[in-house]
Amino acid sequence: MRSIALANQKGGVGKTTTAIHLAHGLALAGDSVALLDLDPQGNATLALQGMIPDDEPDAEGAFEALQNLGSNFWMLPSPGVHRNIDRRTVPDVKKLATLVEGLRGAGIDWLVVDCPPRMDAWGYAGLELCEHVLLPVQAEFFAMHGLSQMMQTLASARKQFPGRGNLLGVVATLVDGREEIAREVLDDLRENLADKMMRSVILRDLSFVEAASHGKTLFDYRIDSKGALCYGSLVREVLDGCA
Ligand code: ADP
Ligand code: MG
Repeated sequence: MRSIALANQKGGVGKTTTAIHLAHGLALAGDSVALLDLDPQGNATLALQGMIPDDEPDAEGAFEALQNLGSNFWMLPSPGVHRNIDRRTVPDVKKLATLVEGLRGAGIDWLVVDCPPRMDAWGYAGLELCEHVLLPVQAEFFAMHGLSQMMQTLASARKQFPGRGNLLGVVATLVDGREEIAREVLDDLRENLADKMMRSVILRDLSFVEAASHGKTLFDYRIDSKGALCYGSLVREVLDGCA
């Protein structure tokens, strides 16, 4: 089983959007996928509510805690969706690690973890559970600055959890191709990060907000959208990069 955490200590950079589209895209490509919502705010859980099948099959074993979202696609909802999670509450990493081992044993191909916009106990748990990290960055002026902080966090996570927290790549999100600054920032990121910069770029598309309000990904809601095309490309790149 390959595992990818979507992490960035900044909010609003497209972590959740990338997590749900990457997970669903991998499932549509034919692999079995479990998406773990590690953000107590539960945005990923809410953004996929419209994909829960009416005739949800009874799950057993490692899948019991998971919500089925269609064929070969599962989600562990955020515990924060149904009860208020106090800031001091920490995740039970041991229990999560046991669940992840169960999924591995059950033959799940991919684990995708959506981290909160903070590198607190929840964010660190995401790094501890995953071999790879995909780092979404918004193509804006301070992108490089925020990134260097995140790189330090990843380096310390790798020390603490050997074999975990390896940077798979940085993906530029919310890119408006008409803006000169976005193009400049992209060039800058490519120059600095070289092969750690994903070739796929996620363009700004209003359909994302609409799809989320329907509780669906764009692959379900509007397959011919610009956003679905962008994430389709990212899914293929991840499949190639993690082969
Ligand atoms: P994060 O998880 O990093 O906080 P989100 O994925 O929740 O970020 O994205 C923040 C907001 O931006 C959400 O309302 C989401 O629907 C919207 N959004 C994300 N990606 C795009 C995009 N490519 N184009 C337009 N809106 C987007
Ligand atoms: Mg989020």
